[in-house]
Amino acid sequence: MELKPRRKVIVAKEVGFCFGVKRAINLTKQALSERGDVFILGDLVHNKRVTDELEGKGLRKVEDYQDEKGTMVIRAHGLPKARIQEAKDQGLEVVDATCPIVLRAQEAAQTLERDGYQVVIVGDRNHAEIKGILGALEQPALVVDNLEELREAKANYTLMRKVGVIFQTTHALELCNQIVNEMLMMCKEIRIINTICRPVQNRQDDAVELASKVQLMVVVGSRTSANTVELAALCRHYNTETVQVQNADELEYTVFRDCNVVGLASGLSTPEDLVEAVRQKILFYDAEPAAPEPALATA
Ligand code: SF4
Repeated sequence: MELKPRRKVIVAKEVGFCFGVKRAINLTKQALSERGDVFILGDLVHNKRVTDELEGKGLRKVEDYQDEKGTMVIRAHGLPKARIQEAKDQGLEVVDATCPIVLRAQEAAQTLERDGYQVVIVGDRNHAEIKGILGALEQPALVVDNLEELREAKANYTLMRKVGVIFQTTHALELCNQIVNEMLMMCKEIRIINTICRPVQNRQDDAVELASKVQLMVVVGSRTSANTVELAALCRHYNTETVQVQNADELEYTVFRDCNVVGLASGLSTPEDLVEAVRQKILFYDAEPAAPEPALATA
């Protein structure tokens, strides 16, 4: 018997892994099938289901490589080049799964430095990608993540007059715009290389459009995934009825019970089947039993 949908769900144009995450997972699986001892610094992606699966195939997660042997996988976020060299010098095999878009951001920073600009990175200094970019430079760069940090840098004289700006690849364009706009009043010369990842930007634009026209917006992805948290915050800006869930079990019935139209989007490290499970739940789930048929009057 075909189930009748209880409500309408509009899914964003692209959900599931981005190509950089897919590539990193495939390279890791290949290394696991071809080599003996494979390890990684930290999690390959910010999704427990995926990391559990890879660890089940033998991937070891370690804090540092100093005492390790075998093959080291570099995550899509990249690693400072000095550390990669150090690992190779130690005799480790290296499988470099750094996303090509992240590599381009590193090269953009190097170009700006070579051309005499103070490199300013708009991003989170604790994020692995930013550490990789900083590690690709000869000189220290300035990292700012919000207007307060920028103003502080200006007050401390750590912001120069001739700056070259790049962005964390997963950052929201709106936030980057605000920071650059303020910089225009502080600096004499600004060169910008737009390093925001196009797939990320497309997803953000699409999700914002979707969030503006549905009753409820659901964003699926891990709470440790920066791009998912940022996507949910962006959607919430356009629709206060936005929730982020890690899987279908976390989505409470009362949240979507009274909605006719729900929007659905995902972070870049969320497996597509988790999104599909959430879609199915919103479409068909109904916790309240159907009202009993009225009893037929008997003569
Ligand atoms: S979000 Fe963009 S930059 Fe990051 S891994 Fe995916 S494709 Fe690469």
